[in-house]
Amino acid sequence: MGEKLLYKPGGGGDFNIWMGFPGNHSFALSSPGYLWLCKMIDEMDGVNLERFCTDRQPKNAPNLVGFSFTFDNDFLTIFEMLQKNKLALKADERATLVFAGGPVVTTNPMPYVDFFDFFIIGDGEDVIEKIVEICRQGVNDKENTLKTLSELEGVFVPKYPKPVKKLTSRLEHCVYTPILSDEAFFANTFIVELSRGCANRCAFCIASYINLPLRCAPFDELMKTVEFGLKHTDKIALLGAQVSAHPRFMDILRYIDKRGAKMSISSLRVDAIEPEVVQILARAGQKSVTLAIEAGTDRLRKRINKNLTDEQILQAVQICRDNGLSGIKFYAMLGLPGETQEDIEGFLTLAKKMRNVSFGFSTFVPKPHTPFQSCNRAEVKELEDKINYLKKEFHKLGIKTSFSSPKWDYWQSVLSRGDSDLGEFLVEVYKNGGKLGAFNAAAKKYNIGSPNLTDNLPWDFIQMPPGKEFLKSEFKRLLQEAD
Ligand code: SF4
Repeated sequence: MGEKLLYKPGGGGDFNIWMGFPGNHSFALSSPGYLWLCKMIDEMDGVNLERFCTDRQPKNAPNLVGFSFTFDNDFLTIFEMLQKNKLALKADERATLVFAGGPVVTTNPMPYVDFFDFFIIGDGEDVIEKIVEICRQGVNDKENTLKTLSELEGVFVPKYPKPVKKLTSRLEHCVYTPILSDEAFFANTFIVELSRGCANRCAFCIASYINLPLRCAPFDELMKTVEFGLKHTDKIALLGAQVSAHPRFMDILRYIDKRGAKMSISSLRVDAIEPEVVQILARAGQKSVTLAIEAGTDRLRKRINKNLTDEQILQAVQICRDNGLSGIKFYAMLGLPGETQEDIEGFLTLAKKMRNVSFGFSTFVPKPHTPFQSCNRAEVKELEDKINYLKKEFHKLGIKTSFSSPKWDYWQSVLSRGDSDLGEFLVEVYKNGGKLGAFNAAAKKYNIGSPNLTDNLPWDFIQMPPGKEFLKSEFKRLLQEAD
């Protein structure tokens, strides 16, 4: 069916905006946040929007270019997309304004200040129309446009630095995928956002910490939105870091269940697993579930504020099995602050009590704006030893595992806590192909490594709740409580 737009574009004009997604068309079409901003722009009169990604090029010369920036490594794809479309990488070598928004730059835009003229810090839907309007008024006057943009709340213009307050949308209207397509990664699926953020505040988690407070879409709006989606498809996906925190979560599930739609949920907390939830999801076509347990023992889980016990995990697995969800995958991290061999053994102790499950591991990457923001990262070698040990032991148990690469995770940690001096390094990495070897060679050339963090952090100018003093006291509390 190609693409089906669920909205009416505004009258075309001659102000051309490209909205870039650093991935392929299929993933772009399953990204509600990106598509929602595209819809808001496309609905404006006098604007001509083109979506572009790695396998889809725009046609009309742009007046404004925006990028979604979700993963630290996205800079490589963004550079490639800029070059492919004959736009200089560096902001001061371009006439066209280029901006970025998304979790990476909301958390810490500093490594990327050479490349973008401005950044949206936080929820873009509250400011995108104003941005477009200012850029349209100021076409051909880059300097004044940037000055005006720098006065907007939630917009960071590196040329005019100032403290920036993160934008926090009230989520009074539902955000959903406003385009349906059989080419989408989740084909013809109407994805609707139930809630934004998570109140649990696990100490490593930016999904929680950069999205406080937790907001839930109003129930009536949600139901109207689901009905709207069901006019166009029978597949509904519910999105949110903690969907079960919605005060009407069960009512929402029951409603969609009654409508006979296929339904899936992005992730569920272990303590939200109840027989009725599982039965509804199984009936609605969901085959498997990923349970994020993060650490191997109750002690370490408490230390990271996950507060989940082995007993709760085993009970959740039983409920899933008894009620029709057979595929269970655990997600956890290695190298969390305070991890000991006992915590590594804890994974195996848990695994021995279960059958037909799999484990996916990544390694801990300290992120800005979390209580762990100033923590050191374990050495690559130490993490590789832990991985090899777990691979061997899980193999003996006949349990499938997958592991992220500690070397790549290391670079992620360098980027996510980096400062403005990373610019030339990033260009060098990109020019040399963006593989691990390119990172290592560029690091030698520019003397880049783990950041030496002082009390003044590069991202301190971004103001968001709960604030730096709280993060420090929360870190102390977690250390004391768990020991
Ligand atoms: S429960 Fe999940 S989403 Fe919520 S803070 Fe913890 S890790 Fe993040």
